[in-house]
Amino acid sequence: MAARQSAWESAQIQLAEAVRHLGLDDGTHQLLATPRREMTVSIPLRRDDGNVEVLRGYRVQHNLSRGPAKGGIRYHPSTDIDEVRALAMWMTWKCSLIGIPYGGAKGGVTIDPRLYSRTELERVTRRYASEIGPIIGPEKDIPAPDVGTDEQTMAWFMDTYSVNRGYTVTGVVTGKPVSIGGSEGRAGATSRGVMIAAFAALREAGANPRDVSVAVQGFGKVGGLAAQYLHDAGCKVVAVSDVKGGAYNAMGMNPAKMLREMRAGMESVVGYPGTDAITNEELLELDVDVLVPAALESVIHDGNADRIKARFIVEGANGPTTPDADAVLESNGVVVVPDILANSGGVAVSYFEWVQDLQAYWWSEHEVTDRLRGILESSYAEVSALAVERGVSLRTAAQMIGVGRVAEAHRTRGLYP
Ligand code: NAD
Repeated sequence: MAARQSAWESAQIQLAEAVRHLGLDDGTHQLLATPRREMTVSIPLRRDDGNVEVLRGYRVQHNLSRGPAKGGIRYHPSTDIDEVRALAMWMTWKCSLIGIPYGGAKGGVTIDPRLYSRTELERVTRRYASEIGPIIGPEKDIPAPDVGTDEQTMAWFMDTYSVNRGYTVTGVVTGKPVSIGGSEGRAGATSRGVMIAAFAALREAGANPRDVSVAVQGFGKVGGLAAQYLHDAGCKVVAVSDVKGGAYNAMGMNPAKMLREMRAGMESVVGYPGTDAITNEELLELDVDVLVPAALESVIHDGNADRIKARFIVEGANGPTTPDADAVLESNGVVVVPDILANSGGVAVSYFEWVQDLQAYWWSEHEVTDRLRGILESSYAEVSALAVERGVSLRTAAQMIGVGRVAEAHRTRGLYP
């Protein structure tokens, strides 16, 4: 068995496929394959016990041709420059695909946040924000939460940036608490988008969305609320998981109740009353209608793709399916709603948040979710129509649209000097 494809390998292979279908020249391919700007910083942290430890942080701006860079900040022990590069590239295609005026970026710190206190994480965030400060800003690059970070992280980031500038700059990050310029509807936006994308795919296949079973890998910001929204909409959620493992009940479970208990201090979904413990690997291979990977990259690979029984995979996570696995799934007739479409609800509402911050004018949750639905449904329809027209997968069609618009922006702007 070949080694599992990494996120960066997957991103490059997907790009090459889109370039081939679009008939772009080698120079344009190279331009699109190469990150525009990369920053590596060291983050000296004074631990609570007085010792000093030095962490590594990154910010990669993959492309700026359509507007300021946009993308989350990840705190995870396996984060490295290649992972951040891949995530930044996917952000470029995602923003382009859904038609918002951003390029793509991503940031990360190599750290396991579970092993640090809240005050230590605040110091890490403030130092990281200061170090990458010169390349960040509402008109340059706008971070947001990702794995291991949340709205509190964004509040510290925004505060640090603002203090360093001498005035409050709400538009420097999105995914902030509503009390300091965050948007109504942002916290659940990615998950709501996952549900809208899943329902679009199910309806297109003639399936009744209220008559399906679902398994969700990852019970964090995206997976937790995706499970809840799908359950609330009538789907039967039979399995959820987190880093420690999964919980399974063939009769279904109530994710809202589990989320409440997580917020109240429950550490894991494993061992939840009325469920059987399963592994993350077993969850992926359950006999369900819809599988929502909402944790990390490359979890569906050439080693397990053939054992996936779900008819639909709706990618809440970025890059959960490797290109090797995509080929197997396609030949097995599995419909994969790709990450850059399925999880684009988060950046769509981040865009709304940034627009509200720049205008200092606030929208209602109803306005936000209506606009989100509009973007997701029209993007899905566009991707699906191109997939049919060109006889390609939804992923290739989504990449063709995303990559094609960025290539067009480069052509139109011209090459300096
Ligand atoms: P999170 O940190 O809130 O949650 C991550 C979840 O995955 C947690 O339940 C964690 O326990 C679990 N997990 C971690 N390692 C795991 C492993 N090895 N196996 C199984 N589960 C594991 O992160 P999030 O913001 O929900 O992000 C999840 C995915 O969604 C990432 O791929 C992220 O890039 C993507 N995404 C997030 C957003 C957003 O708005 N937060 C938007 C678009 C895409």
